[in-house]
Amino acid sequence: MSTPAQRMVAEQLVPHGVTDPRVLEAMASVPREEFLAARMRRHAYEDRALAIECGQTISQPLVVALMIQAAAPQSDDIALEVGTGSGYAAAVLSRLCRRVITIEREAALAEHASETLRRLGFDNVEVAVGDGSEGWPAEAPYNAILVAAAARGVPDALIEQLLDGGRMLIPVALAADEPQDLRIYVRRGMDVSYRSLFPVLFVPLRTG
Ligand code: SAH
Repeated sequence: MSTPAQRMVAEQLVPHGVTDPRVLEAMASVPREEFLAARMRRHAYEDRALAIECGQTISQPLVVALMIQAAAPQSDDIALEVGTGSGYAAAVLSRLCRRVITIEREAALAEHASETLRRLGFDNVEVAVGDGSEGWPAEAPYNAILVAAAARGVPDALIEQLLDGGRMLIPVALAADEPQDLRIYVRRGMDVSYRSLFPVLFVPLRTG
């Protein structure tokens, strides 16, 4: 017997480049339907982004898995997510590191995500309300930062809150109508370098 999440892993993630066994196990263990409104639940295991409240989306499972795999979270790491949305990606990430801070600018979404995470027992995730382009200095620096909304440029605050050896995943689109480029930034001492991974489609990171 396999669960829908286990089938999603076998059919949608493994064939598309998700190879890290820890990531596959985490994706198989988080029930995505629990992060959706009742009327959307029948779509929970389709490999696409789906609508949630406040005109926002829950990310596509393959993109969540590939971003987390690239961020290479370790069991003792502290990670920051910008754009909590439903809380789904934070839940997956929390299975792979010590602690997750996730920031959402829509208070209603943050509250709902926080309730879902608590109900399902993801107790190493803290949901904060605010503008995530400023990062979350109180708990910085971070081993890994995942930005789940497309930025016009890379916010300095996020780079500053990355530990030496830390990894940040961020979709960047230089203009609203340009394709978004998922980038990985790596800090080594004072040196920060990036490379492009693949094109993505996220809602915009709204700053200010
Ligand atoms: N990771 C989520 C999907 C996020 S969608 C999930 O798994 O469900 C992107 C989210 O980023 C939206 O909820 C949007 O409200 C939020 N957002 C946009 N700009 C933001 C900002 N500056 N700070 C924090 N959250 C932001």
